[in-house]
Amino acid sequence: MDHKNIILGAGLAGLSAGYHLNDSYAIYEKQPEIGGLCRSEEVDSFIFDYAPHILYTVDPYASELIHKLLSGNLKIKKREAFIYHGKYDLYTQFPFQAHLYGLPASVIMDCLKGVVEVLRTRDKPTPKHYEEWIYQRFGKGIAEHLMIPYSEKIWTISTRRMNYDWIDRRIPEPDFNTILEGALTDATALTGFNNDFWYPVHGGIESLPTSLGKGVKNIHLDMKASKIFPKENEVEFNRKTRVKYDRLISTLPLPVVVDLIDDVPADVKKAAGDLEHNSIICVNIGVDRPDISPHHWLYFHEKDFIFHRISFPMNCSEKTAPPGTSSVCCEIAYSKYRPLEVKGKKNIIQKTIDDLTRAGILKKEDKILVSDILSLKYAYVIYDLNHRKNVNTIHDYLRGVGIYPCGRFGEWEYFNMDHSIMSGKRAADKINEENLTALKK
Ligand SMILES: Cc1cc2nc3c(=O)[nH]c(=O)nc-3n(C[C@H](O)[C@H](O)[C@H](O)COP(=O)(O)OP(=O)(O)OC[C@H]3O[C@@H](n4cnc5c(N)ncnc54)[C@H](O)[C@@H]3O)c2cc1C
Repeated sequence: MDHKNIILGAGLAGLSAGYHLNDSYAIYEKQPEIGGLCRSEEVDSFIFDYAPHILYTVDPYASELIHKLLSGNLKIKKREAFIYHGKYDLYTQFPFQAHLYGLPASVIMDCLKGVVEVLRTRDKPTPKHYEEWIYQRFGKGIAEHLMIPYSEKIWTISTRRMNYDWIDRRIPEPDFNTILEGALTDATALTGFNNDFWYPVHGGIESLPTSLGKGVKNIHLDMKASKIFPKENEVEFNRKTRVKYDRLISTLPLPVVVDLIDDVPADVKKAAGDLEHNSIICVNIGVDRPDISPHHWLYFHEKDFIFHRISFPMNCSEKTAPPGTSSVCCEIAYSKYRPLEVKGKKNIIQKTIDDLTRAGILKKEDKILVSDILSLKYAYVIYDLNHRKNVNTIHDYLRGVGIYPCGRFGEWEYFNMDHSIMSGKRAADKINEENLTALKK
């Protein structure tokens, strides 16, 4: 049962670590199936992902690997993403800042005045938090009409409590001409880096880990790590079986790993306790009417809609819904800072259906064929102001006791699927390199 390398978690990062290791390994996963967040669920012939998952990457290695794994099963899609403004009962194209056209003139004026003010201001100080970053980049109008309300809805905390380390290219920053053109005309040019994305034709997003898993051996399912003994180089599973390792790769959320180890220094324990994340529930609905929307996804920034984003799996692949029907996944974010306002599965589903009807997505006469809820406890890492410091403290400790953290929650970063795959590869590469160096000595 003992292995040179043990990998905890069979999500994309754990599978990728196994796929790229040159050494013997075994993967242990607490669930009865592989895939982690990148799984799909079939309900009465409707396929829903664990939250909408679209594929795009700028990393050439990840791109090649994904294409190899999903060869013959990938479709390229041109993004159809919009924002719904319930107050005016209208849609604008995503991203808001590049497509103000259609909004009331007073809103467009607010936004443009803010942008001009930003352009006029020289010598901007380094922003103290995400909110200041938004004001500095886009001005008051864009900040207050959309960015701050939407951010607080998804992140569940004030934008003043967040940093902006995570932004990279996630928030498009169009130049002034693009903003002006998008305000004065119904410009259709897409802005942002996921203008085109890929999605599997068959099997939902789970077909990616399924294919990756075929190149990986020694996966043990229903094996939950219940204790780690770094001094003994042992992991205990399901509170009974102990397994020895030379090296331990963990894709588990950092607070979970720290909790599995006894005698963790107080500062590390505190850092783990201070890490912030949100949780998401997906209310998945199947309807007896085709084409309820032409879009891939829609954003809802207004507080009186229970969800912050809804997406239409059937528009990513028609194979995810039976002929003549439609499907919609509605994401609702919550955390200890903003608990769910509606309690109980039945009430949450009903409120979701009511809000979809209010937004004109569903009609009163529609027959709901399926309604289900999927819960993601660890959904997005929240970049609070101490994020980097806390993560460094925990990583220094884990590496010091011979644990290699990787993946979205092992690195504790805003990782997409490609990043998680590459993070697993980095952990494997490091071990491969260390082995090579040891051989040369
Ligand atoms: C709402 C949402 C939308 C997303 N949309 C996209 C998107 O559109 N495009 C994109 O590229 N990415 C998207 N992502 C990100 C993507 O899902 C992740 O980057 C990726 O799936 C993370 O893989 P991972 O292996 O790092 O983590 P995980 O998938 O979380 O894997 C960790 C594994 O560890 C297992 N585990 C936990 N505890 C234990 C234990 N004690 N013992 C053993 N096993 C354990 C878990 O069951 C899990 O299988 C989205 C994520 C979310 C939350």
